[in-house]
Amino acid sequence: MDAHKKIEEYITQYPIYQYAFLSPEEVEFSDRVRTICKKECSRYGNSWSCPPAVGTVEQCRSKCLEYTDALFFSSVAEVDDIMNMSAVLKTRKEHEELTGQIENYLREEGYFCLTLSTESCDLCEKCAYPKHPCSHPDQMHPCIESHGILVTDLVEKHCMDYYMGEKYVLWYTLIFFRRV
Ligand code: SF4
Repeated sequence: MDAHKKIEEYITQYPIYQYAFLSPEEVEFSDRVRTICKKECSRYGNSWSCPPAVGTVEQCRSKCLEYTDALFFSSVAEVDDIMNMSAVLKTRKEHEELTGQIENYLREEGYFCLTLSTESCDLCEKCAYPKHPCSHPDQMHPCIESHGILVTDLVEKHCMDYYMGEKYVLWYTLIFFRRV
């Protein structure tokens, strides 16, 4: 069976809203996104999953281009009001679990994976950065933007949804993968 078809059959058992297979070459990496991290995100310089710890945008790009394929997918969560940030962030856990399950499946199928997901990693109560090495390097997922990738750009290219109204949150994951 075609590799993508097999993965497709597996992932459709999960509550994935939309997905697309893409080539790492088509992903755009931009220093502009990094500037936004630096200026607007409190996690900048506070986590192994965020810049500058993840490397320069050029280093991130080189890492991603070591893979032959990528799977981009979204899931949807319902909230009372999308402007309520703490309620929105509470829905993130489910998407992260879903991401971990799909990443584990790909690894079991014999793929190397580089998984980028939502927000800054919160696996530890307090991130070990910068004094100690990351405590869970195999489970930690840097956020997509940390690598200079614009999620809206991928969403548009693959005709996926970015906004579904005030009651829904969309979360995204991008898994780069290649045969071991
Ligand atoms: S696993 Fe822990 S140490 Fe590693 S990035 Fe996440 S919070 Fe930081």
